[in-house]
Amino acid sequence: MPDHITVAGVTVDTRQWIGGQRVASADTFTDLSPIDGSVLGEISRGTPAEAAAAVAAAKAAFPAWAATPRAERARIMHAVADGVEKRIEELAIVETTDNGALLRSHRRGVMPRVAHNFRFFADWLLKLDHEDFETRDHTNHVSWDPAGPSVLITPWNAPLMLATWKVAPALAAGNTVILKPAEWSPLTASLLADIAAQAGLPAGVLNVVQGYGAEIGDTLTSHPDVRRISFTGSVPTARRIAASAAPNLTPLSLELGGKSPLLVFADADLDLAVDLAVEQYDNAGQVCLAATRILVEQPVAEEFTRRFVEKAARLQQGDPREEATDIGPNIHPRQLEKIDGFVQRAVGAGARVVIGGHRKEGQYYAPTLLTDVAQDSEIVQKEVFGPVLTLQTFATEEEAVHLANGTRFGLAATLATGDQERAERVSAQLVAGTVWVNCFFVRDLQAPFGGSRLSGVGREGGTWSFDFYCDLKNTVTAP
Ligand code: NAD
Repeated sequence: MPDHITVAGVTVDTRQWIGGQRVASADTFTDLSPIDGSVLGEISRGTPAEAAAAVAAAKAAFPAWAATPRAERARIMHAVADGVEKRIEELAIVETTDNGALLRSHRRGVMPRVAHNFRFFADWLLKLDHEDFETRDHTNHVSWDPAGPSVLITPWNAPLMLATWKVAPALAAGNTVILKPAEWSPLTASLLADIAAQAGLPAGVLNVVQGYGAEIGDTLTSHPDVRRISFTGSVPTARRIAASAAPNLTPLSLELGGKSPLLVFADADLDLAVDLAVEQYDNAGQVCLAATRILVEQPVAEEFTRRFVEKAARLQQGDPREEATDIGPNIHPRQLEKIDGFVQRAVGAGARVVIGGHRKEGQYYAPTLLTDVAQDSEIVQKEVFGPVLTLQTFATEEEAVHLANGTRFGLAATLATGDQERAERVSAQLVAGTVWVNCFFVRDLQAPFGGSRLSGVGREGGTWSFDFYCDLKNTVTAP
């Protein structure tokens, strides 16, 4: 098998990156492009022994990296960010080809943000401190000690963005990393390994293993030398990881799925509310934070729906490499089947299709809005992870909050209202890690990010990331 493939003119190494060496596995898995279903190439299918070797490499590299002065760690991380910035075009086209998300978003939003992830956590590290304080003349000094080798497992819907949201704070904290990207979008993690090595990150500090989670996941998450596990993905996988980590009590950060609501009150700017609703089709609905349950106050429901349908009809669906495209393909034929299964079962249970409700040619699903859905129905309760929204109406603020909180998730919520007092009152009652008022997807890396209930465990972002990736120590010194 060749050691590399060429994707849109960019060379990508198909092997793993362990201890500063490229490691080819005996077996491979096939990477497909969701744009047209074409085969991109064969990628190393890592084995449990190779995953264990990656943990060993991270363990060996840990003492030196942990002892590296903060300023030097930060300098190298800025060099990684420089490397990302130099290759934005290449990273963007490779990721678009690999996972089908829009090229224009990758170019202008996602990849610059990937570089920013490194810069942000490098800079945050330099100001990370805790003032000493006294207790009966004794001094308390709190230090942020690196925790150790960290396993970072990520999904396919925003591969490099979500990976670096973990890699950057873990490295800044002084930890070494074993990154396991999703098997449906393995390519940009390999490019990141090249960029990090060129930036001077020492061997073994960042390792990238490839392969199926079901085959190598357990080796990584049950390993006694792993001191942190940060996972973004689905609830069933999170449960398996938590069980696997339990014997070692390895601290976990879990960023999971959602079924977030968009609450539209009658006093809202209706055009803004419609814009916010249509935005939920971004990335073909494959966004954990997506507000897929639209809840509209009864007096404006008809007008909202009319404007929504009008606006959604203008969305361009097609090749994600085209500048004019708004919605690209879904990641995999299996995901498409799953999406359609949810929609057909909902229709069978009495849901009315306002728009969409069917597959299109290739790996595309028509943007869909379903109404006449019951709160306890599958389509309202389960995450679809496709361009499928439901619309329910409410009569009172109390009912709106009740419906909004009425799933087992608690990742995010969005409110459209012209009444600031109502915004504050409703936000305070919502179970959600993030609430957006008259906006969506505005994310600052210094804010805590995560979910409640089945949407996750823990928060990352700014100081919260360092809380997770460090072992905090208090040293008490006598006068
Ligand atoms: P998934 O759980 O199927 O896979 C995620 C990762 O886990 C992949 O890398 C996979 O290889 C790995 N994995 C699979 N089995 C494993 C095991 N036994 N041990 C260890 N690792 C294993 O999820 P997905 O389908 O790739 O991603 C979609 C899900 O991710 C959705 O539920 C979505 O909401 C969620 N998500 C959450 C956030 C967030 O920040 N909360 C962000 C993006 C996506």
